[in-house]
Amino acid sequence: MSNRTIALDDRLYDYLCAVSLREPALLVELRAETAALQEARMQIAPEQGQFMAMLVRLLNAREILEIGTFTGYSALAMALALPPDGRIVACDVSAEWTAIASRYWREAGVAERIELRLAPATETLEALLADGHEDRFDFAFIDADKTGYRAYYEACLRLVRPGGLIAVDNTLWNGRVADDSVQDADTCAIRAFNAALHDDVRVDVSLVPIGDGLTLARRRG
Ligand code: CA
Repeated sequence: MSNRTIALDDRLYDYLCAVSLREPALLVELRAETAALQEARMQIAPEQGQFMAMLVRLLNAREILEIGTFTGYSALAMALALPPDGRIVACDVSAEWTAIASRYWREAGVAERIELRLAPATETLEALLADGHEDRFDFAFIDADKTGYRAYYEACLRLVRPGGLIAVDNTLWNGRVADDSVQDADTCAIRAFNAALHDDVRVDVSLVPIGDGLTLARRRG
């Protein structure tokens, strides 16, 4: 018994998955295909996908913004939780990875819910703001280049409605954020982002130790 978050060894993690995962067959398939890629570790964990689908439903989200789509697992998990008229704007720079994503979105019958924008995310976010989409989104998921997090977050804070949620991935960064001897650019960027968010009175904050750390920031009204 403890009043702190429990550490998960392999046995307990397997148990957690065994008693709670309801991963749709297509997501299982997509995860297997992505696991063969060199960049496989960029994919979110299945329990995190299921958690994000839960958030989408709790928010009654209709409009979602995703920064960093990769092979489309998170977008698919969220799209399946959206109502039929729900939409995701998905930002990525890789035609190769998102071709895998699009194939699975079509197969799942949710391709019309996902609008893929292949461009640097800062350009897409600026375009959305310029087109008057401020306060439009219910939920934003940031999971892209770590040195871009601050800029993505600031744009998302304008694009998400009051009461809307921004989820930021990899905020525990495999533990490196807590190791002062690690000083590479990505680790320093996440560390600085976490510290800034802690003091950010524009949002309510919770760092959820699921996957590689998922920070939830709810925009205050
Ligand atoms: Ca990630």
